[in-house]
Parts: sequence; C-alpha cells; structure tokens
Amino acid sequence: MPALIRADFYQPTYFGDSPISDLDYVYRIPRFKCEHCGSDSTTSRFAYPHLDPSTVLSLEELRIIDGRKPEKASDDKIANCLGQLRARWRVPVTAGTSFGPVRIKVSARPKDAFDALPLHSALFLRRGMAERLKAEGFVFDYVLADAYGRYAAEADLVQLCAPTAGRLWLPPSITFCSHCLRHSPHERLEPILYDTDAIRNLPFFATLEAGKFMLSSTFVGAAVRLGASGLGPKTLWPASVRPGPAPAAPIFEGTGMRVPPIQPRDSSGRRGKKSQTSPTTKREINPAFVSAWLRRLRGFLDQVRLMGGCAAFATGGESKMLFSKPHGLPGSLSTLLTACGGKLSFKYSLDLKGQEFSGGLEVDTRLLKRHKRECAKWANETWIADEPEEKSLWLNSRPFASLPNGDYLGLGDWSQESNPPVVYLCHDDSSQVLAQDLASFLEIWAGLGYIGPEISILDHFIDNSTGMLDASTLKAERLRDVFRSAEQKGTS
Ligand SMILES: [Zn+2]
Repeated sequence: MPALIRADFYQPTYFGDSPISDLDYVYRIPRFKCEHCGSDSTTSRFAYPHLDPSTVLSLEELRIIDGRKPEKASDDKIANCLGQLRARWRVPVTAGTSFGPVRIKVSARPKDAFDALPLHSALFLRRGMAERLKAEGFVFDYVLADAYGRYAAEADLVQLCAPTAGRLWLPPSITFCSHCLRHSPHERLEPILYDTDAIRNLPFFATLEAGKFMLSSTFVGAAVRLGASGLGPKTLWPASVRPGPAPAAPIFEGTGMRVPPIQPRDSSGRRGKKSQTSPTTKREINPAFVSAWLRRLRGFLDQVRLMGGCAAFATGGESKMLFSKPHGLPGSLSTLLTACGGKLSFKYSLDLKGQEFSGGLEVDTRLLKRHKRECAKWANETWIADEPEEKSLWLNSRPFASLPNGDYLGLGDWSQESNPPVVYLCHDDSSQVLAQDLASFLEIWAGLGYIGPEISILDHFIDNSTGMLDASTLKAERLRDVFRSAEQKGTS
C-alpha cells in the first residue's frame, strides 16, 4: 500500500472519483427528539441493506420511514417504529438508519473497487472484488446494489452488510445516549476504537457510536494485493485502537453489542454549530492588516525550515501591477487578494518528536469561479441536496479555498452581511461557522500555527459554546508550547 499509515483498521472517507451521482433510500428513519437526552439530530447512519421493514411495520408506519417522501409523524410514532425494528432484528436503529439497498445512479465509469456514500450511509464494493475477497477466506454478506444509469452494469456494485460491532472512544466532553444511540453534542469523532475480540475477527464493521465503517488492515491489504485501486491515505484514515472498556449491560444480543451506562449530560449543553455571530465584535480587514499577517506567516515558515521541516510560500506579488482588483467578491476577500497580488499559497510540514504537523492554504483569484461551480455541484447532486440548511449554506457561500479532503473554506452569505463569517463547507458532515469574519479567522489560525485547516484538525480548537475556532484555549496554548520548545532547540 503506497504511503498508507500502518494501522489495524481504516475508516473509508472520501472517494473523490465516485461514479455515483445520485441516490435514494428505500426506508430511512427520520429525525426525532429523544425523551431521555433531548437529542434531535442524526449522528450515525446505520445501514441494513439486507433487512426489509415491510415484514415488520404496518403500511401506515412504513410511510413514516419512506426514504424519499416520509410522512410527518410525532416523535412517539417514530419511536414506536424504532422499537419494533430493534425488537425484531436486535440491531441498533436510530435517526438516519436505512433499510434495504440504497438506490444509486452510476453515471461515470467506475475507477475504484470501493465507494462509500457520505456520512457512511452505505459502503460499496465491485462484485468481482467482493467475490475474490470471499475466495480468500473473508466471511461477509452483501446485497446487489439497486443501481441504474449508464455505467450501472459495468460498475456491478454490491452494498456491504456491515455488522455493528465496534465501539468508538468518546472524549469526556461527549455523552452517548443508550436509549436513542446518539451522541451529544453532535460533532465529528476521532476514529479511535476500543479493542475487542469481535472487531479482531471481522473484515469490516460499523461502530455503535457514530455508525462509521471500519475496514481491517488484513482486508484492505488483501484487496490491494488483488488489484483494488483507489485505496490510499486520501481515502482511508487510520483508526487507532486502545484497550477495551468494562462492558455494560448488553442490549443487542444479536450483534454482541454492548452500550455504556448513561452519563450525565455535559453542563455546557449543546454545541451551537451555526451560532450567530455577534455584530459588535466584527473586524474589518485592511492592507496593513494583511501585510502584518503575511510577515508573521513568513516568520513562522522560516522557523519551520530551521526546525528541519518543509515550507513553501508564494503570492502573486510579481504580477501585482497587472493584477486588477477582483469584483463581485465580499470586501474582506477582495482586500486580502488585492494585497497578495491575486494569490496566496503556502504549505508546510514538520515532524516534531514523531508527531506530524502540517498546514497550508491556496487562495487564487483564478480558481474562485471553479470553486463556486464545484460547490454548486456538491449542493445539487449529492446528499447535501436533501438537507435544506446545508444546501443553502453551500449555495450562498463564496468558497475561496478547496482543501485536499474535498472540503471548502468560504465566506458566508454576503447578500445578508457585508463582512461575512468564515464557514467550513464539509462534504461528508455538517458544515459550520469557523470565525465571525475573515480577519478573525486569519488571526486565530495564525495563533494555531496555521495547522490544517481540515476540520478533523481544527475540531480540537473549537469552542463548544460558540462552535467557532478559539486560539485562547489550553489546548491551543499547548500546541504553541510544542512549537516554541522545538523552536528553541532548533535555533540554539
Ligand atoms: Zn437519547
């Protein structure tokens, strides 16, 4: 496997060349409010392509969980459907759980053997590869994908039946409700697994806490050996494993699944991801701010090089005279780009005591239209099209940088605000506001050593009460300490 970080398990994430352009669920549990924890979000997407709820529920109940046009129903009614489905199959079921094979449109020639839908709502494999892996001795089930479109037959995809058998480690700030099987506050979780015999013996499984798929390294290794392409550090995230916890009372005998005892809710309450920004503290950006910020950045990158890391930096400075001020952009972005001669590009990576730090950004006037087009495509042709709040954010923001993981940084709706907030457009999870304006973002990010800015990295520096980036936390201070101590060693 080229450059894949060695791990026991991998979480498949973003397959950039997905041939799947559209999808529909047969049955899917809608959102509901839990009477125990109050959660009303969708934090996991268990998928049971091989189970058919029409053998359990009445026609009236089936309409409530219809995957395309669900009928509105009370929380009680949804909970009642949930109870019947859980009792029948003894599997975890909650908001977002789907049943039956996902109906997919395959409109491009498939390149890779695997494909995963956003938010882990389905995991696909090409049938030939599935059969070869079975011939190698891997034991698993699949159903034929319900596929249409020009390349459906050629792709010949099957949807894998992943048993829910793994447990994710939850940071102390997160609680898990053993009634509705959701975590709060709703945020992205690190793929850290608890070690159990159940996961060691499986080629792949889903986790109870967030319904994430995990592939074992022996399974991934065999697939690569058999010629599966597209598996690499961009599509597979390593999942670390820690010793297993003491199991609580089992509730899902069918899967051997155990859930933790109910923990008190975090007193800080729910995380306000899309919280409104305070108008009194907005910061304007100006050329002096940008040049000071660029000086600080260059100083940082020089230090990175002194510490043995790699760093590259470029602006459109050479062509500054030729560069005309961009029109039709929020003022803050236009000011930044003008001060940078139309382009700002930098990246660095640094190894400190075996720990890798890296960051970078590319903002280029010439790429802005393409970002806007690509985001509109995401908003209209993927799962985002089904989530009105997300869709509006993707369509109304002005994306200014695309990230290697498929996400975007953008400025929020500026028809509403002249100095819009910086938003993180996440292609496989909820999007969120990172900072109240561009100046604040640039400043806070500098305080965090310009790391990321992928959300999996920035997530550690989000203030739960506002949902935004914060460089004044203890964690951020520790990060700066790491840089500082290395800096002293590097220069002494
Ligand atoms: Zn609950």
